[in-house]
Amino acid sequence: MSNLAKNYNRKKISFKYGKGSYLFSSDGKKYLDMLSGIAVNSLGHAHPTLVKTLRYQSKKLWHVSNAFQIPEGERLAKKLCKKTFADYVIFQNSGAEATEAAIKVARRYFYSIGKPNKTRILCIKNSFHGRTLATIFASGSKKMTEGFGHVGGFDHFKFGDHKSIEKKITKNTAAIMVETILGEGGIKVIPDWCLQELRKLCDKKKLLLILDEVQCGIGRSGDFFAFEKSKVKPDIVPIAKGIGGGFPIGAVLMNKKVAKAMTPGTHGSTFGGNPLAMAVGNSVIDIVSNKKFLDNVKKSSEYFFSNLNKIKKKYPYVIKEIRGKGLLIGIQLYTDQTKFIKKLMDNRLLTIRAAENVVRILPALNVKKKEIDLALKIIDKVCSEIK
Ligand SMILES: *Cc1c(COP(=O)(O)O)cnc(C)c1O
Repeated sequence: MSNLAKNYNRKKISFKYGKGSYLFSSDGKKYLDMLSGIAVNSLGHAHPTLVKTLRYQSKKLWHVSNAFQIPEGERLAKKLCKKTFADYVIFQNSGAEATEAAIKVARRYFYSIGKPNKTRILCIKNSFHGRTLATIFASGSKKMTEGFGHVGGFDHFKFGDHKSIEKKITKNTAAIMVETILGEGGIKVIPDWCLQELRKLCDKKKLLLILDEVQCGIGRSGDFFAFEKSKVKPDIVPIAKGIGGGFPIGAVLMNKKVAKAMTPGTHGSTFGGNPLAMAVGNSVIDIVSNKKFLDNVKKSSEYFFSNLNKIKKKYPYVIKEIRGKGLLIGIQLYTDQTKFIKKLMDNRLLTIRAAENVVRILPALNVKKKEIDLALKIIDKVCSEIK
């Protein structure tokens, strides 16, 4: 009997070790990992540089406290700001903490300019921003909030329903918060022109724009941030998942304007930004933010998408749509998602579900061509077995 609570629907498999894109199960089988701990293991498993960094730092210093200067955190914050719109960073330990902090920053900004009633955040219905009390209500999902009372302060519009967005803005709206690419919600990309319109709307109504890049950020889209090509400058961007390469790190990135509101005592975290986490984060960003590395993500993405679309053509009664960007890929099925994922797993390919009957594929960002070929072969085989 397991003493772990039953809040997860776990598959009956465990792993002994991992190497690159492969996971080795306790019963001696080799699996191609195409979910990467849900966009977390951005450099695959046991990446030599990350192992070296962790080893080195673990012998020096793990944790001090944010009561002191943390040079490793200074360095990571500097890199994040240099590469992006941001001027300031607060570190956390997870995505939900990062989005929660984003909400706090937005509210605190309006408080600091004498508009304390501007607290409401406008979000996409059935999006995903994490599992804290506030962020489940930000997601606007009945399934996630049921039985947890009520946390107010969130309004919602339907994905793609452009006309309703402006109508949902009230005098108390502080910000619009969306995932640049909806992950859990079914790998739905917000097109660049929509991001630009959202920015314009926020400017017109004097709102803040929060782009949740917890899943789609840190190279996952082929650019460092998924909104980069749109040239849109958000005010606040929560990140997490990929930035630690498997070590728990979250962060909220902010421009100068809003960061001014975050004075001493307004936010904090015991663990957030500790030297061990920051050392690993620095190593991840040094690799991932490199132009050649990102060009290679784009190349792998093009190869993956063009071949998945060929498979879609071959099995039009199985696959409805191939969605996504970069190496955040969704296969929307006509047939049962759960059975499909199980069959892929029986063929030693690990993937994970998303909403709207989508099979999510999140390879390591440094995935090799022959690993993509193997995944394609297995997907083709499983499709061929569906009548
Ligand atoms: C995963 C995710 C979160 C929550 O991150 P946790 O680390 O699980 O708390 C928030 N936003 C998005 C877009 C995510 O994909």
